[in-house]
Amino acid sequence: ADALSETIERTLVLVKPDGVRRGLSGEILRRIEAKGYTLAAVQLLDATPELLAAHYAEHEGKPFYQPLVDFMLSGPTLAIVAEGQGVIPGFRSLAGTTDPTAAAPGTIRGDLGRDWGLKVQQNLVHGSDSPESAAREISLWFPGL
Ligand code: ADP
Ligand code: MG
Repeated sequence: ADALSETIERTLVLVKPDGVRRGLSGEILRRIEAKGYTLAAVQLLDATPELLAAHYAEHEGKPFYQPLVDFMLSGPTLAIVAEGQGVIPGFRSLAGTTDPTAAAPGTIRGDLGRDWGLKVQQNLVHGSDSPESAAREISLWFPGL
């Protein structure tokens, strides 16, 4: 492998149920592709309680945990594996900060999201936060990949 291919990484992106419901799946895929990342896998699916318990294990016990899981069960999720140089921090930077009201213009959350007066932050997307998280999360959402 050459130096460039060794730096190619994969991340798990989710278009959360609010994004799918609002018809923003295409816009979010467009931003990922426009940045130059490649789609390695895409699947629309209904998350299960078991999948979400594993995916959000780090947040178990926090006050927003159960509302977050209930929100993630409220409709289908578009799961995406995106690939490219630096895609793990790169997608987080495309997504913007967690709170969509505070997220910068130009980001997915900043351009398309806001506080809807709900207790759970419905912030449109998830992106893996490290190579370890990405490997773990890709194996949860795409067991065959
Ligand atoms: P991120 O998705 O930016 O990595 P976290 O991993 O900290 O954020 O949290 C996971 C998800 O939980 C967030 O994307 C958001 O949907 C929800 N969340 C995080 N913090 C809060 C909060 N203080 N109140 C409500 N929901 C939250
Ligand atoms: Mg996170």
